[in-house]
Amino acid sequence: MMRSNFALCLILSLCRLASLVGASTTFDHIIVGGGASGLVLAEKLSRNSILYAQFIGDPAVDWEFVTVPQTHVSNKVISLPRGKALGGTAAVNGMYFVRAASKEYDAWETLGNPGWNWNTVDANIKAIENFTPASSSDAATFHATDSLQNHGTTGPIHVTYSNYWEPISVVPAYFSAVNALGIPTNTQAAGGSTFGAWQAPCSIDAKNRSRSYAVNTFLPAAEKRQNLVVMTGSQVTKINLLSGASSSGNIRASGVQYIVNNATQNVNVTTTGNVILTAGTYQTPKLLELSGIGNSTVLKKFSITPRVDLPGVGENLQDHYAAFTTFQLKDGLGPEVGQVFLNSTFFVEQFQLYLTKREGPFASVPSTTVSMIPFQTFINATKLAGLKASLDNSLKAFENTPLEKVITLQRSFIEDPTIPQIEFVLAPMIQDPTVTPDPSKTYMSIAVVYMRPFARGNVHISSTNPLQNPLIDHNYLGITEFETGVMAEALRFITEKIATTKPLSDLIEKTLQPAPGFSDTVLQNYVQHNVVSSWHPCGSASMLPKDQGGVVDANLKVYGTENIRVADASMIPLEIGTHTMATVYANALHAADVI
Ligand SMILES: Cc1cc2nc3c(=O)[nH]c(=O)nc-3n(C[C@H](O)[C@H](O)[C@H](O)COP(=O)(O)OP(=O)(O)OC[C@H]3O[C@@H](n4cnc5c(N)ncnc54)[C@H](O)[C@@H]3O)c2cc1C
Repeated sequence: MMRSNFALCLILSLCRLASLVGASTTFDHIIVGGGASGLVLAEKLSRNSILYAQFIGDPAVDWEFVTVPQTHVSNKVISLPRGKALGGTAAVNGMYFVRAASKEYDAWETLGNPGWNWNTVDANIKAIENFTPASSSDAATFHATDSLQNHGTTGPIHVTYSNYWEPISVVPAYFSAVNALGIPTNTQAAGGSTFGAWQAPCSIDAKNRSRSYAVNTFLPAAEKRQNLVVMTGSQVTKINLLSGASSSGNIRASGVQYIVNNATQNVNVTTTGNVILTAGTYQTPKLLELSGIGNSTVLKKFSITPRVDLPGVGENLQDHYAAFTTFQLKDGLGPEVGQVFLNSTFFVEQFQLYLTKREGPFASVPSTTVSMIPFQTFINATKLAGLKASLDNSLKAFENTPLEKVITLQRSFIEDPTIPQIEFVLAPMIQDPTVTPDPSKTYMSIAVVYMRPFARGNVHISSTNPLQNPLIDHNYLGITEFETGVMAEALRFITEKIATTKPLSDLIEKTLQPAPGFSDTVLQNYVQHNVVSSWHPCGSASMLPKDQGGVVDANLKVYGTENIRVADASMIPLEIGTHTMATVYANALHAADVI
C-alpha cells in the first residue's frame, strides 16, 4: 500500500494499544501511556466482548454522533456510536466476522466498478481471516458450523465462534422453531448464500478468547518498519490542496492539516503520493467538504470555496436499523447473560472466570444466532404485493435522478428470494433499552434488523469548525408505508409465529413487547417509535460513476482529484445484507491493490 518511502498514519485515538509477546508473559493489550483515558480504555477492552456496548456514550472512546431528529421515527434523535480508539470502531464493536450473499458484491461490479465482486471480496476476506472451527459439540448442539473451505486459515485476524450459550436450551429450541417455519439451518453461510439460520463467527482469538483486530494483528509488524509512522491523539482537520489544477483539470492534495495537543500542524505528501481517507462514513465526507470538495451549494452555505463540485459527497447514506421483541423466559432455565449487568456477584464470578480460564460470557459474544431472510419468508403473498405496489409508487421519486440505477438494482433484489432483506438476531437477554428487567427473571429477545432500506439519507458539515460533529440525517423509515410495513410484519412473525412454535414456545413465560395480536396500525406505530440504528452506515462517498452520484471511481480516486482516495465503509455504494467489518477489511486490501 505504501508507494512512497515514508507513510504517515494520522489517527485520532487517546492512547496506543499494542500486543506484546514476551518471553514469559503474553498480554492481549499493552497500553503505553497509562493516563486516565488510557486506563479507561484498557479497562474497557480487557472486558472484551459482551460489554462492548458499554463504550457507547463514553466520550473517551465514542465519537457520540447522533442523527438529526428523524421525521419518520417520531422525531427521535438516534444515537450513532463510532469508535475513537486506534483500531476505529473495530476496537469496540460486536465482532461478528461475516460475509454478505455473493450477488450483493457482484452488484457493485454491475454498478460500474470492474473487479469489485464476490470473488475479490471473498478472496480478500479469506486472506485476512484465520479461522478456527468450534468444538464438535458446539457445532452439533448450537449449529456453530461452516465448511472450512469457506474460510481463510492463514490470515492475521483470528476468527472463531462463541462458546458461551447459557441458557443452553434456548438456541437449539430457536433453530427447531425457525426450521419448522421455513427458515433452514445454513451450514455454508460464509459461502455466498446467507439465507437461513446460522451462527455468526466472530473476530475472537480462539487461543486466548480475546478480540482480534487490526491493532493487535496488522499493526505490530507494520509499525516496526522505518517507513511507517503512526500518530495518535491527532485529528485531521482538512486536506491541503495545491492551487490551480493539473493539465487534466484535476486538483491535487499536497498534504493534510491536523490538530495535536491543541496546535495545528501540517504534513505533506510526496509528488507521487496519495491522501487516503479512512475516517469512516460520517467523517470522510466531512473532511472532503471542509477541504472544498462537495456539493457547491452545501459548501457555499459555509463560505467554503468549492474546489471540486461533487454533488455525491455525503449523499446516498444508508444504514441498517432495528426494532426489538422481548420475552420473559420460564424460571429455572439457567443463568442468562444479561445477569452480568444486573447481578454484581455474577459479574465478579464471570469476570474472574474470564481472567483465570478464558471462559464464560466475557470470552464470547453471547448473541450470535442470526436468521437472514427475504420478505417472502414472513410476509404473505397478498400483503407483500400490496407493500410492493406502495414501494414502487414511492420509488418514482428516484426516476431521472443520479441514484435511479442503484435503486432499480436494489428493487430487483426483492424479487430474488436468495437475497435476504431482514436479519433476526436472537439474544438470551434484553436488547431493548426501553424494557426494565426484573433481576430475578431471565429474558430472551429477537431483534429485527432491516438491512437494505430504500430511503436515502445524507451527512454534511454543520460548521467550518472541524471539531464540530457533522449533521447526520439517516432518513430512517423514509419510504414510510413500505419500510414501516415490512418491519411490522417481521415483528408479527416473531411474536405470533416463532415464539409460539414448539419447542421454543415451551421456554417462554410471556411476551413483553410488542404484544402479540396487535393490529397493523398499532404495530406500525410501535416501529415508528422504537427504531434504532444497527450501526452499519455506508454510502456517503460511494464508489459509483460520477453521474450516478459517485464520489470515487473503481480505483477509489475522488472524482476531480489526482491523488485523494477513500477506502472506508463510506465507499460501499449499496448496503450489504450483513455486518460490515469483514467487508471493510477486505475492501482495504483491495484498495491496496488498486491505489
Ligand atoms: C456498536 C457497534 C457494533 C458493531 N458491531 C459489528 C459487528 O459485530 N460486526 C461487524 O461486521 N460490524 C460491526 N459494526 C460496524 C463496523 O465496526 C464498521 O462497519 C467498521 O468499523 C467501519 O470501518 P471504517 O474503517 O469505515 O470506520 P471506523 O472503524 O469507524 O474507523 C474510522 C477511524 O477514523 C478515525 N477518524 C475519524 N475522523 C478522523 C480525523 N479527522 N482525523 C483522524 N482520525 C479520524 C476514527 O477515530 C476511527 O479510528 C459495529 C459498529 C458499532 C458502532
